[in-house]
Amino acid sequence: MDIKVVKFGGSSLADAKQFEKVAAIIKDDPTRRYVVPSAPGKRFSGDDKVTDLLYRCYDHASKGEDIDAEFEVIMGRYNDIIRDLKLDFSLEKEFAQIKNAFLCHAGRDYAASRGEYLNGLILAKYLGFPFLDAAGVIFFNEDGSFNAKLTNTILSSKLRTMHNAVIPGFYGAMPNDTIRTFSRGGSDITGSIVARAADADLYENWTDVSGFLMADPRIITNPRPIRVITYHELRELSYMGASVLHEDAIFPVRYAGIPINIRNTNQPEAEGTMIVPDSKHPSYETKEIVTGIAGKKGFCTITLEKDRMNDEVGFGRKVLQVFENHNICFEHLPSGIDTMCVILNNRDLEGVKDMVINEICQTVEPDTISFDDDLALVAVVGRGMVKAKGTASRVFKAVAAADVNIRMIDQGSSEQNIVIGVAESCFETAMRAIYAEFSEDNAIK
Ligand code: ASP
Repeated sequence: MDIKVVKFGGSSLADAKQFEKVAAIIKDDPTRRYVVPSAPGKRFSGDDKVTDLLYRCYDHASKGEDIDAEFEVIMGRYNDIIRDLKLDFSLEKEFAQIKNAFLCHAGRDYAASRGEYLNGLILAKYLGFPFLDAAGVIFFNEDGSFNAKLTNTILSSKLRTMHNAVIPGFYGAMPNDTIRTFSRGGSDITGSIVARAADADLYENWTDVSGFLMADPRIITNPRPIRVITYHELRELSYMGASVLHEDAIFPVRYAGIPINIRNTNQPEAEGTMIVPDSKHPSYETKEIVTGIAGKKGFCTITLEKDRMNDEVGFGRKVLQVFENHNICFEHLPSGIDTMCVILNNRDLEGVKDMVINEICQTVEPDTISFDDDLALVAVVGRGMVKAKGTASRVFKAVAAADVNIRMIDQGSSEQNIVIGVAESCFETAMRAIYAEFSEDNAIK
């Protein structure tokens, strides 16, 4: 029998109505055996996420301020869910322990983790599944990094003894048994870790959108959904700003070759987006050329020219060493025979720009060096580009027809990604032009 691990985000578990939808989804498929909940999220726009309430409340407790009223609001969120689901269940004992721990300054991570912990207890009760505390099965190292090996060993042997379980997301335990959380949105990571440990066939990540879209809906009206995307493509697109899933959630399942299905709790009939391991999955083959388009503003370029640069052994290394000395990562490195262009994030040069440029001049003595801080990057990503001829020409023609000048071009040798640089003021126009050129190819036929 297949095994699915299902993770539900905060908006999917924000109130009793959402709990009912979640339970219906789980009961609809007996292979949905292991459930990872987030803390209750926003019920309406302007509402608070319980995690934010917990952080705030704890900060007041740690300053010695009174937290009665704030803690009351947090308890109210859970008590409303329990009451509306008509559960014969009380969290009063847990509330008292947690409040006491806040007053004894048990730590910010502990405070935030209680959002998932309490929601997990309610969901386990509602589903009739056993509750498995993440603190006993998810482990961190002394330095705060995730201990994948220990977690996988303990968690997989535990899951072998449990047909079903609710495992709260977002946290685990340090070697000294204190609680540590992942970064915000980290329940996605827990879901991925559980999927790997359970040797699941599928990791379903239930949220409030029906998967990934071909482009940012704030720029493109009603963009097409992406049905299948590879981990590799997803990484390229998320790097450029597309986000639905926590970036670190990819690694555990990618390592194990388990696909992720992004689904919508409010529209369970939609197939969502399948994220599949590169090349091994049956849906890997595609007729679509471009899977998605993403981009970001806020880049800058440092361009160096030097006669006979290409003969000077070590020139590039010396330039890059200057960035390394300042702990700066470069983004792209397009170069010509006697020119080298380093593309960087504006943010990384803040406060050190003049120093970096001076050091480069002293180190490699270029004939000219120029700086331009008005660059936006657009990445056109698709595994279908590998075999297709003329894709780059379609991108460039579309952008030229929209009267946008391309300042930089970079195509990785994987052939799955063409990155172009344009002036920030032309960013949206370029995105729309490229989307219009390729979106018809992706119409469901
Ligand atoms: N509740 C946590 C947050 O709001 C973790 C999560 O929802 O994934 O960041």
